[in-house]
Amino acid sequence: MTAYDYDLFVIGAGSGGVRAARLTALGGKRVGIAEEHRVGGTCVIRGCVPKKFMVMASDFTHQFETAEGYGWSVEASFDWAKFMESKDVEIARLSGIYAANLGKAGVDLIHGRAVLKDAHTVEILGKDQTITAERILIATGGRPWLPEDLPGIEHAITSEEAFHLPELPKRILIAGGGYIAVEFAGIFAGLGVETTLIYRGPNILRGFDDDVRAHLAGEIEKRGIKVILGCQHTSIEKTETGLLNRLESGHDIETDVVMFATGRVPHVRSLGLETAGVELNDNGAIKVDTLSKTTADNIWAIGDVTDRMNLTPVAIREAVAFHETVYRDNPQHFDYEAVATAVFSQPPVGIVGLSEGEARRTCSKGIDVYVTRFRPMKYAFTGSDERMLMKLVVDQDTQRVVGVHIVGPEAPEMIQLAAIAVKAGLTKAQWDATCAVHPTMAEELVTLKEKQTASSGAV
Ligand code: NDP
Repeated sequence: MTAYDYDLFVIGAGSGGVRAARLTALGGKRVGIAEEHRVGGTCVIRGCVPKKFMVMASDFTHQFETAEGYGWSVEASFDWAKFMESKDVEIARLSGIYAANLGKAGVDLIHGRAVLKDAHTVEILGKDQTITAERILIATGGRPWLPEDLPGIEHAITSEEAFHLPELPKRILIAGGGYIAVEFAGIFAGLGVETTLIYRGPNILRGFDDDVRAHLAGEIEKRGIKVILGCQHTSIEKTETGLLNRLESGHDIETDVVMFATGRVPHVRSLGLETAGVELNDNGAIKVDTLSKTTADNIWAIGDVTDRMNLTPVAIREAVAFHETVYRDNPQHFDYEAVATAVFSQPPVGIVGLSEGEARRTCSKGIDVYVTRFRPMKYAFTGSDERMLMKLVVDQDTQRVVGVHIVGPEAPEMIQLAAIAVKAGLTKAQWDATCAVHPTMAEELVTLKEKQTASSGAV
C-alpha cells in the first residue's frame, strides 16, 4: 500500500487523459483526474465534434443546389440560433457520457485547475485541495495561438469563439491556411457568409501533397471562398460598420468577424512543470521519450501537449500505449507511420502516407504516381463543375502503395479504409487485384492504370 492518495493522477480530461484514466482504473488502480473546463477536452467541446456538426449544417446548401438538378424545388432557410442550441445540447450530452464513463470505471473526477507542486503533488487551485500520486499523466492538450504583436489582434476571435458566435456574421475573414482555417472557411461560406481566407504562404495546407493543395484551393474558390495567398495582416481596426483588415498588399477588407486560425500551442502555461522537473522541448511542448515519459521519472505526457501528431485518435493510442507500458508490463510506443487524416473542408480531403514530394525524397529507387481527376457521378447533370482528385504514390522498388490522397465527397470515409491497405504495406498489384464496386467514386482507387509521366510538382 502506497502512501499516495492515488496510483495515477491525470491532468486534463480530454480524449487522451480520459482513455488513460479509465483503462488504469479498470485495471484496479486508484485514479483521479482533474479538468478545469468541461469533460471531453478539445475534441468533444471545442474541436472535432462541434466542428463536424457545423460542417454538416453548412453542407446542406450544397445538397439543396444538387437536389435542384434532380428536379427538386427547395425553399430553405437556416436558423443559426436553433442549430447552435441543438449542437450545444448534443455536446453537453457527450460531455456527460464522458464524465459518467469515468465514474463507472471508478475514476475520481475533480473539477478545477491542477498545478504541479512537486513530482508527486498537485494542488487544485481555488479549492485548497492538495493531492498526491505515485504517477502523474499530463494530458492538457493545446490552445489557439495568435500573433499577439499584430495591432488590433484583440478584435480577432479563434475557433473557440467561433463555436459560440451569437449570430451568423454577414462577412468573415479567416487568417491561416491549415486545417482549422480551411474547415471554418468552408463552414461559413456554406452558410452563406461572405468568406475570405488569407494565407501567408503560396498555397493552403502546407505539408500536404501539392496536387491536393492546388485542387482544394480551386474547389473552395468554386464554392465562393475568396482565397488570398502570399499575404498577411498589417493591422485590424474597429470601425463603425465592422472590422477593417489592413493587408500587406495594401488592400483593406471590412468584415464583421475576423478569425485567426494560425496554429495551436501546447497548453503548458502555469502548470508548475519546472517544480516537478518536467522539461519542455524547443517548440514549447513537453519533452517525452518514445514511451511518453517526461524528464521526471514518474511523470508521463500524451496528446497535443507533447506536439507529436496532434490528432484525437493519436492521443487515444498514446494513452493506450502509456497504460500498456506502465501498468501492464508491456512497453509500447505508438507507431506514427501511415496515420490517415482528414480535413473537413468542403469538399473534404483524406490522406494517408507520403505526399509525392516526401516519397521522392525517401524512396531511393524512385516512385510511380497515379492521378485521376473526374466529375463525381452525382453531379453529372446538376451543372456543378466540382471535380474529384484521387492520387496514389507507389514506391518503385517495393511496389507498395505508400501514399493515397483524395479530395472530394466522402474522402474522409474512403481514406479510413485505404489506410488499412497502406498500413498493411499492400502493393499496387494487390490494390489492382481488388475488384471494383460499381458505380462508386472509390472504385477509381483500384482501377488506376496510367502512370503519370511528368511530376506534377514535388512538395
Ligand atoms: P495548423 O498548424 O494546421 O495551421 C496553422 C496555419 O497558420 C498555417 O497555415 C500557418 O502558416 C499559419 N500561421 C502560423 N503563424 C502565422 C502567423 N504569424 N501569421 C499568419 N499565419 C500564420 O494549425 P490549425 O490551427 O489549423 O490546427 C491546429 C492543429 O489541430 C492541426 O495541426 C491539426 O493537427 C489539428 N486539427 C486537426 C483537424 C482534423 O484532424 N480534421 C481539424 C483541426 C485541427 P504556415 O503554413 O506558413 O506555417
